Amino acid sequence: MKKVSTILFSLSLVFAILTSADAQNSDIKMYVTTSGTLELDQGWLTAMTNVGTRIDIPVPMYIIDHPRGLIVFDTGMSVDVVPDDGEEYWGPVSQAFTPSMTRDQGIDEQLQRIGKSVDDVKYVIHSHFHLDHAGNISMFPNATHIVQKAELKNAWWPEQFQRAAYVLDDYKNTRNYNFMEITGDLDLFGDGSIELIDTKGHTQGHQSLIVRLQNEGTVILAADAAYMPENLQGTIPGIVWNVEAAMEAIERMKMIRDRENGEIWLGHSMEQFQTRRLLPEYYD
Ligand SMILES: [Zn+2]
Repeated sequence: MKKVSTILFSLSLVFAILTSADAQNSDIKMYVTTSGTLELDQGWLTAMTNVGTRIDIPVPMYIIDHPRGLIVFDTGMSVDVVPDDGEEYWGPVSQAFTPSMTRDQGIDEQLQRIGKSVDDVKYVIHSHFHLDHAGNISMFPNATHIVQKAELKNAWWPEQFQRAAYVLDDYKNTRNYNFMEITGDLDLFGDGSIELIDTKGHTQGHQSLIVRLQNEGTVILAADAAYMPENLQGTIPGIVWNVEAAMEAIERMKMIRDRENGEIWLGHSMEQFQTRRLLPEYYD
């Protein structure tokens, strides 16, 4: 019996070494870009702070070139907002959230800039289905779409108070797409390199993405689980489905950041975004 457990222990040690070697992921490249900018009242991002001040924010999208497949994390604002700053496609909500986007800021043209096409993308990971995050899902009919099951259900029939931020036209033709409907966390390749974490709160099925890179280390792509630096310091995010869950999600990301000496990349901070190396440069 002792012998068996020794063998098992040795095997698990070998497995741990193998997977940690895997997780070094020297071949992963992460590109950062933005789907234009959004102009809005800062009070939407930092509740009861700087209400009435209109600011421009970035709308980040990430392309991860991984040995196991090309990944897109969020597809930005629909290219249909380009002609008239969303007036027709988004309707009245474009007064509160006013997009400014050029056609070449679409995720398809951003992929082309690094020699890829939408058909090369194997996985599209959606933080959530709001209008500035899933706008171009229909450019990827052949990909596997990874989304929290609760988000899918809520996108199709949102709570009244969240309805304006979901644009049904973005995804109304996607019901037959290949969805990986998950509940909770998912280590996508089983090696820790790409890990989705449940950060519900902003929406009912919000998720964030941890990317573990060889040189950059642990990067937590918060998306709308934390928009601004203030949200990490106790200021409640302005648009939330559930405040308590939203604050718990922030604490969760901070714990992971501190445990792994990583960094939280905020969802809509212009100040932080301006420090990023943008596509075609990359992080590895
Ligand atoms: Zn957003």
